Amino acid sequence: MTNEMKPVRVRFAPSPTGRLHLGGGRTALYNYLLAKKTGGKFILRIEDTDRKRYIENAEQELMDGLHWLGIDWDEGPDKPGEFGPYRQSERKEIYLKYAEQLIEQGDAFYCFCTPERLHRMKEEQEKRKEFPHYDGQCRDIPLEEARKRIVAGEPYVIRFKTPKEGVTTVHDAIRGEITVENRTIDDYIIVKSDGWALYHLAAMVDDHLMGITHVIRGSEWIPTLPLHHMIIQAFGWEEPVWIHLSVFLKPSGKGKMSKRESADLIKDGYSIFLTDFKDLGYLPEAVTNWIALMGWSYDDHTEFFTMEDLIKDFSIDHLNPSPAAINFTKLDYFNGVHIRALPVEDLAHRIKPFFEAKGYHPDDETLLKITPIIQERIVTLDDAPEIAGFFFEDHVTPQTEDLIQKGLTAEKCAEIAEKSYQVLADLPEISPRIGEPEMRALVEELGLKPAQVFGVLRVAVTGRKVSPPLFESMEIIGKDIVLERIKTAAKMLREYQSRNN
Ligand code: GLU
Repeated sequence: MTNEMKPVRVRFAPSPTGRLHLGGGRTALYNYLLAKKTGGKFILRIEDTDRKRYIENAEQELMDGLHWLGIDWDEGPDKPGEFGPYRQSERKEIYLKYAEQLIEQGDAFYCFCTPERLHRMKEEQEKRKEFPHYDGQCRDIPLEEARKRIVAGEPYVIRFKTPKEGVTTVHDAIRGEITVENRTIDDYIIVKSDGWALYHLAAMVDDHLMGITHVIRGSEWIPTLPLHHMIIQAFGWEEPVWIHLSVFLKPSGKGKMSKRESADLIKDGYSIFLTDFKDLGYLPEAVTNWIALMGWSYDDHTEFFTMEDLIKDFSIDHLNPSPAAINFTKLDYFNGVHIRALPVEDLAHRIKPFFEAKGYHPDDETLLKITPIIQERIVTLDDAPEIAGFFFEDHVTPQTEDLIQKGLTAEKCAEIAEKSYQVLADLPEISPRIGEPEMRALVEELGLKPAQVFGVLRVAVTGRKVSPPLFESMEIIGKDIVLERIKTAAKMLREYQSRNN
């Protein structure tokens, strides 16, 4: 179906009231993919009319987050286009003009009810166990009278006059028909007393004026979808294709993630905020792959997707409206897969800042040598300094206890170190090709297990019990330093032996 689609105009319309979370990132991604797929346009619109909840840096952070994922827009606050401005706070007058039109047509009305009256009304409705709704007090005030009250300075809001009879049916491209009884739709406020239009009006006006053909947004807008449909109808505009995405559930699959739960996540190296993933060592390619599959699939088995693949394969009819549980294990899996798919130079370049953040000064030559041997082993980029930081340390400080291998005495381990020294000292270099065969022969000769002999060497040379492959590591460290470290380890073990005898 999507293959023959005409170029769409779609938008991502975040409110700068908080941080960009995974759900927002996914909404942006699907919009972007559809635009790219069809040769259409992707618009970034900032919905910042809620001045009370406005957060200063939020707009910049969400732009940075989208860019990090690899998403760019064709029109937006920083990319003037034919349909701007793209910040709703710069469009106040436009919305008022359309609100006025609805008033004139009789599809909206001025409401002068005071907050106190509305509060009382709500309490009484609760007592009567009715669902909360506006009781219609100002619906029929003649327009002339209303205007006089406004001129006299009475505060007011503008409400949409929803029809109270019949039903409204709206079609969602992935959910099918959504039908509600009109009497259950409130007379929603569309312009607040401060003169700012609310989402219901502002977004419909903008989507129309900006030529939006498909609205892909979160499922939290399903309850007010009939209202949006009515507003569009009242203006006589063409309706966009509606697509309401699935909800994200917490990893347990039970309910949405609470604020506290998301704050706790970071301790485990995870987050629900897009801009955290970079510092946590995730690749944008992996995060994109991961979120793309939370609500969309190509078939029942393909999992690896680059952005290019996604653009090629994306289609609306494969979007899935069922709730998706956030699965961080899967994210780790994708990160590993994408790390292994990177060219060595690229990966080296990406792990460098993680070494620097840990106080290392990695030189590019060594970095390029160690990258291939850790590429298979790291899950996140910040694993790199943990398992390979020692390459940039002048000295390693092994613990004697670590040098002593399971089932062996300090004396035996000292002997291993000394014999290894002898074998390795005679070689022109120490590498998997030259070194490993000789050492394996030594293992035989000593009648020990490879893990025991190599365990001593590993701790001696790298200072740790777990390291990248031993012979590759020794080759990078270089023969002289390797020998010096083995000698030191042998000495430590002998000292330990005499202390404990
Ligand atoms: N400003 C709305 C929000 O952040 C946008 C919803 C939409 O995409 O229309 O939830």
